[in-house]
Amino acid sequence: MDEPIDYLIIGQGISGMMLAFYLWEQKISFKICDADLPFSASPVASGIINPVTGRRLVKTWMIDEILPITFNTYSKLSNLLHKNIIYKTYLEQDFIASTNIDNLVQKNTNQLTKYTDFKRLPLASFDGNHHIENSIHNNYKYDDSQYIKLKISPCFLIDVPELLALWKTFVINENLLITKNFPEHETPLYQHTPFSYDSYNFKNIIFCSGFYGQLNPFFNHLPFTQIKGEAVIANIQNVPFKGIYKSKYTMSAYKNSHYYIGTSYQRDFLNAETSETFLKNSQDFMIARQLNSEIIEQLSGVRSGTTMRRPFMGWHPYFKHIGIMNGMGTKGYSLAPFLAPKLIQNKLEHTPILKDVDIHNYFTF
Ligand SMILES: Cc1cc2nc3c(=O)[nH]c(=O)nc-3n(C[C@H](O)[C@H](O)[C@H](O)COP(=O)(O)OP(=O)(O)OC[C@H]3O[C@@H](n4cnc5c(N)ncnc54)[C@H](O)[C@@H]3O)c2cc1C
Repeated sequence: MDEPIDYLIIGQGISGMMLAFYLWEQKISFKICDADLPFSASPVASGIINPVTGRRLVKTWMIDEILPITFNTYSKLSNLLHKNIIYKTYLEQDFIASTNIDNLVQKNTNQLTKYTDFKRLPLASFDGNHHIENSIHNNYKYDDSQYIKLKISPCFLIDVPELLALWKTFVINENLLITKNFPEHETPLYQHTPFSYDSYNFKNIIFCSGFYGQLNPFFNHLPFTQIKGEAVIANIQNVPFKGIYKSKYTMSAYKNSHYYIGTSYQRDFLNAETSETFLKNSQDFMIARQLNSEIIEQLSGVRSGTTMRRPFMGWHPYFKHIGIMNGMGTKGYSLAPFLAPKLIQNKLEHTPILKDVDIHNYFTF
């Protein structure tokens, strides 16, 4: 029997890619298996890395630790792939002033000052380039004479189409890719180590299979959720901003000076296809902002999330050669570079996995 390969990674979305890249850097042997399954999240993502989360304007989980590692990882990948795929930028948002903004700003000032700049400005001075949202919350007293200009910085934008295409070429050229649909449910195939697959022998297997991984018999008790997301790519002639602009949808630069407009967050959905409803909503969104646009592509994918709103990863407590990294939710592009090395270091050096993301939280011994 040949010396077994150290790892078989199932899935080369951003999770599998970041694991593979770390193994490549460490000169540890691996193969990736991916079947380009439809509605996977990574190819349809806008690739935004934003240190401030959601409507409550809170600092993103562990972002102070995540940002430097994530930036460094994409920079190294840019070198490997001979193309810059990470851009530093900022995000802007305008909304009518209201008492809740004052409350939020006051409450979160300490944790947010590093990343945000709030300006309260007279409405009369509004330049008309952006669309002012009514407010980010309802049920508060508005001050119609003023608006808030929020700038979040730094944000980063990953060139998703370029990264995925160049990475795929790289792993094909290095003979690291197996283009097959791995039968996750056929557990006898891989429940002992070493095991054989596609004429290779492997010691360990890691599932990074996004929402398809929810049925894996070793991990199907983990608290997965699914969130469908849709977006459009539009050719827009008169874009009045440079960075990322957030209002009902978020707009960011995309390939070939096209713009990415998205996304929806649907927890209940009948199918993962693109919908007429989202198409119409995004058209209305652009008309309301007087953008001369032509929609050239519709995108749809399913994010694999968790009820705890944290990703999870780790090694199965009984079958210790079987691992998982999943549940990246809306933030795979910032989380995966940070988490991937920790999963491998846990296997090799027994360094603990972050408690918040450890799958052992869901196993009863
Ligand atoms: C519309 C939209 C916009 C988004 N925007 C952002 C954003 O701006 N920033 C951000 O950080 N995140 C964003 N996200 C979230 C991000 O896309 C996900 O967090 C991330 O892509 C998850 O990556 P993953 O590798 O875990 O899973 P996936 O990307 O779903 O990858 C799973 C891979 O596994 C493969 N696979 C599955 N099962 C098998 C099998 N049995 N055999 C072989 N291959 C298999 C699939 O083909 C696929 O390639 C967005 C998501 C959506 C849907």
